[in-house]
Amino acid sequence: MAAVTYELIKTCKQTGARLGRVHTPHGVIETPCFMPVGTQATVKTMSPEELKEMGAGIILSNTYHLFLRPGHELIRQAGGLHKFMNWDRAILTDSGGFQVFSLSDNRKIMEEGVNFRSHLNGDKLFISPEVAMEIQNALGSDIMMAFDECAPYPAEYEYVKPSMERTTRWAERCLKSHARPHDQALFGIVQGGMFEDLRKQSARDLTSLDFPGYAIGGLSVGEPKPIMYEVLEYTVPLLPTGKPRYLMGVGSPDALIEGAMRGIDMFDCVLPTRIARNGTVMTSEGRLNIKNAKHFDDFGPLDPECDCYTCRTYSRAYIRHLIKADETFGIRLTTYHNLHFLLNLMKKVRQAIMEDRLRDFRDEFFEQYGMKDNDKGF
Ligand SMILES: [Zn+2]
Repeated sequence: MAAVTYELIKTCKQTGARLGRVHTPHGVIETPCFMPVGTQATVKTMSPEELKEMGAGIILSNTYHLFLRPGHELIRQAGGLHKFMNWDRAILTDSGGFQVFSLSDNRKIMEEGVNFRSHLNGDKLFISPEVAMEIQNALGSDIMMAFDECAPYPAEYEYVKPSMERTTRWAERCLKSHARPHDQALFGIVQGGMFEDLRKQSARDLTSLDFPGYAIGGLSVGEPKPIMYEVLEYTVPLLPTGKPRYLMGVGSPDALIEGAMRGIDMFDCVLPTRIARNGTVMTSEGRLNIKNAKHFDDFGPLDPECDCYTCRTYSRAYIRHLIKADETFGIRLTTYHNLHFLLNLMKKVRQAIMEDRLRDFRDEFFEQYGMKDNDKGF
């Protein structure tokens, strides 16, 4: 039996969206779900207790960052990432591929793996499919990702095709070197840029390898959202219905809803935590920046419709003051609210699927949220 299994509860009659559960060694996750990102073994400024309070069942952590610092051997010594960071719910670790390609310097891609220099201190490093598995086996995450190359956008067909084919060969090597399949599930990542035939080939080749779950990578890399939705429309139907489907790097409210409508079960993104640190919050009426002068003497909550700790307790005027004064507590309050907002949105999405009305829910939500924000990030 695979370490992680998917249980389909029902599909929405209006949209085909899936309501389900992902069973992991560290609990059951109701899907569709959003996974807060804890890059360096912490969701920036949030404690595990706070994440639980807001209902997070799974968080994501970054292999590349933990490999560089503090090193996976230290985390192995600590008894794995769950113990190291005191989080007893599920953890997904990415493969390190995305950061190797986006953050590191002087990288050289070879069939064997990737040579690169650490963005922290310039150290010469090497990650291959086998190394990515060794690191993630040491971290002990519930869900591991196969080592892949996320092609940039835009990229030529002549670049994307061999890159995608190498990613498939790397995925096979990951499966072979994965040492803990009994308690860690390895997901494959569909690549192929924005090219329909390449995406389809990638999906077919990877599903023939029989991973316990599949991610769609290489999206939300700068392409317009309609293009991303189009890719989902021809890729998702090729993935098996009995396994979880994860859309990587997507976390804006509209894209979460649109992704769920196209059959996606899991999402992650740094967007809610990153914009929170700049004073931007998501509300039921769209995004607002708390630093704007109009909030100077506004003693109402960030979002009148939100019942999170921040909104129940603190005013816009107070939070604006904290953020303007560079006080950490201000960032904690906006981060808490944004994560709660997305986790709560997914709860509403699941309810709408249950009631076969996700399209109606989307229309209502978009009208109130104001889709002027539609294209500002993923
Ligand atoms: Zn709130």
